Amino acid sequence: MEKNSNADLDRLLKSGLSDITHAENSKNLEAVRVQLLGKQGSVTSQLKVIGSLAPEDRSAFGAAVNRVRAELTTAIESRSLAIVEVERQIKIESQRIDVTLPGRGLEPGGLHPVTRTLRKIERIFLRAGFNIAYGPEIEDDFHNFEALNIPKNHPARAMHDTFYLDPETVLRTHTSPVQVRYLENNHPPVNVIAPGRVYRCDSDVTHTPMFHQLEGLAVDTDISFGDLKGILIFFLQEFFERDLPVRFRPSFFPFTEPSAEVDMGCVFCDGAGCRICGQSGWLEVLGCGMVHPEVFAQVGIDNERYTGYAFGLGIERLTMLRYGVNDLRVFFENEVSFLRQFT
Ligand SMILES: [Zn+2]
Repeated sequence: MEKNSNADLDRLLKSGLSDITHAENSKNLEAVRVQLLGKQGSVTSQLKVIGSLAPEDRSAFGAAVNRVRAELTTAIESRSLAIVEVERQIKIESQRIDVTLPGRGLEPGGLHPVTRTLRKIERIFLRAGFNIAYGPEIEDDFHNFEALNIPKNHPARAMHDTFYLDPETVLRTHTSPVQVRYLENNHPPVNVIAPGRVYRCDSDVTHTPMFHQLEGLAVDTDISFGDLKGILIFFLQEFFERDLPVRFRPSFFPFTEPSAEVDMGCVFCDGAGCRICGQSGWLEVLGCGMVHPEVFAQVGIDNERYTGYAFGLGIERLTMLRYGVNDLRVFFENEVSFLRQFT
């Protein structure tokens, strides 16, 4: 029994010292200490063996255990000092500031592509003598529909997929109500554009529930369809920075008469026909027309004396054409890798 126990002690001492030497940090060393000298530790448990020894052997064995414990304790203390010193050096090293390092680059954000397009459009029309007007996004039925010659039960209302807040209040479905509000408060001559958000209950590859439009309006005593053609051709060529063929197709809007859809030569294939223009060589870009006399009547402007034109375009649509983006939804997903391309 005694021999076995002494041999156990020797082995314990040897492996204990080895563990202590190999402990690499304070945490490891503490684990080793607990494993050897803690309440359940392997050295401590040797003391429990004493009771099973012959009485004459007990004192010698007890002394041997204490020696082992003392030796291990000393080894732990000196290892601990060494580790603390090493850890201190590591900490100093890691906290050192190298003042010669180049500064970290700032990563400034960029304007959203829709905002960039809107600003470009605004600059073009400001140069052409237009002012900018704004109106509310929560609009009443009168300004959004009625005053634009879309009475209740007019079939055109079905085309609008309107968000109703209550029967008389809507999220505006187009920027055209700003025309009405502007004419209520300003006398001709009027040259104004009205950009802003509009809302429709619609969502797929080419529709989102919120998108941006820009409305244009000019009213004076001698405005003709020729003026309308002139400003839109000027705008499209300035915006796409090239000579483009532009054509006007007869169309229908309740608040203009006559009305037209405007196509321009496809910017992707130069009119040769491609997938984006459906092989036609033309892209539909905006709607326009001469202000309907009924709209003037609604806001108290003499429709015998004054004429005007109005046009509306989709900012996202022009942004897609400008940058060659083919899915409208990416503009609203805030994917940084997409947006970063525009900074
Ligand atoms: Zn094309």
